[in-house]
Amino acid sequence: MFLLSPVSCQVQGAEPLKGKKVLFIYGGWEGHQPEACRDLLVPWMESEGAEVVVYDTPECYSNESLMSKIDLVVQIYTQGRISGEAERGLLEAIKRGVGIAGWHGGLGDAFRQNTEYQFMVGGQWVAHPGGIIPYDVKITDKKDPITKGLKDFHMHSEQYYVHIDPNIKVLATTKYTGEHGFWIEGAVVPVVWKKTYGKGRVFYSSLAHVVKDFDVPEALEIMKRGIRWASLSLYEPNEKWVTPVYK
Ligand SMILES: [Zn+2]
Repeated sequence: MFLLSPVSCQVQGAEPLKGKKVLFIYGGWEGHQPEACRDLLVPWMESEGAEVVVYDTPECYSNESLMSKIDLVVQIYTQGRISGEAERGLLEAIKRGVGIAGWHGGLGDAFRQNTEYQFMVGGQWVAHPGGIIPYDVKITDKKDPITKGLKDFHMHSEQYYVHIDPNIKVLATTKYTGEHGFWIEGAVVPVVWKKTYGKGRVFYSSLAHVVKDFDVPEALEIMKRGIRWASLSLYEPNEKWVTPVYK
């Protein structure tokens, strides 16, 4: 727990999470092991110097005092529901510059009724053809700090098929074989992306159906780098994001 005091001296550079106030929200569908993921990532963020508050409900997004003091939201809350007040609290915080990071259904399949929330995330899970299957992840952006130096890698998990915002910055993708849906053979779908919503940085990775999937070193490293990047949202200048793919 951290003391809710005004944001003061922030250390950046090599230790982006140091001194950052993080709100970690977990819960929703149990199949995604939200508690085990909490127990993996919260101690890691604390080891990097972050001060983390943990809640098991998204309703705390409606707490203006809390939201005014945080730098970053990390959320693993699959499906579930959120009140209009809490959704507004989250979206307004991100619009003014608070970062958000998450993975798999915990960010990309939360609050299915809330389209503005999906607009913020930049994508929505719609299928994982074949269930738990082997698939490859291709690093498509080798310059971005989140994926720089990483090689393509293999997963044995759910291969998320997501509907996406065309203006996300895609860092990694996956290709479908057609074995579990002949009409999607050869389809390439984003796995990792970054974007902004208002002034806030949004980071998403579709990897990690269960906590054991983070045993794949690249999956965990991408998530850690994404969390670090999003944590600097309030402290670094906005970047230009809209790079139309359809002209
Ligand atoms: Zn899943």
